[in-house]
Amino acid sequence: MAESLKILIAEDEESFIDALQLGLSREGFSVEIARDGQEAIDKFTSSGPDFILLDVMLPKKSGIDVCREIRQHSQVPIIMVTAKSTEIDTVVGLEVGADDYVTKPYSMRELVARIRAVMRRRQSDDESHMPSDKAKIIERSGVSLDPDRHEVHLKGQLVKLALKEFELLELLMINAGKVLTRDMIIDRIWGAYYSGDTKTLDVHVKRLRTKLEADPSDPKLITTIRGLGYRFEDKR
Ligand code: CA
Repeated sequence: MAESLKILIAEDEESFIDALQLGLSREGFSVEIARDGQEAIDKFTSSGPDFILLDVMLPKKSGIDVCREIRQHSQVPIIMVTAKSTEIDTVVGLEVGADDYVTKPYSMRELVARIRAVMRRRQSDDESHMPSDKAKIIERSGVSLDPDRHEVHLKGQLVKLALKEFELLELLMINAGKVLTRDMIIDRIWGAYYSGDTKTLDVHVKRLRTKLEADPSDPKLITTIRGLGYRFEDKR
């Protein structure tokens, strides 16, 4: 039940702490606070939260380091909080393994919606990874994507992708040959309540191209359909 969710908030600004504590408790979440990066790691270890809201700029240890450290042994859902929307691209680019990103200032309503969206996505991921429901390997245009093993091979070579890059590629490949609109992609990969910079999608496409295209400046696999969105070219 989402209502009894235990959330660890790693945040050092008192005004945010007060608002989050009040707002999230009101939503029925059980809230714990860490005021620096080290405390976030300690509280994560001692209390095993169901969810972490992690500020990027924290004393002692940055949110980025905290996220990396936790990801070494846990897949607990994490939303990272950045102070400026321009920071998002940088943080996304570091591939620390967060599930979503929000930018300050955000509304409590938006935050709660994003938390619930991440939890829902995690649940459906868990269900789709049941052995009885084994997903098929998708192979198109020299790219092979294994949804179960979360692996991508390009002409037989393993390609390392961040979580969102993988999800984006999977969505494009499942719909190979069809144009997917930007709104549809953002909705599916980042959730219906995503209100961050739409540049985030372009950043992810760019990274995929760098990893998959022979010439990323002249993409043949993931093409841009001007004014509409993107398409994975199905050449078999
Ligand atoms: Ca901060």
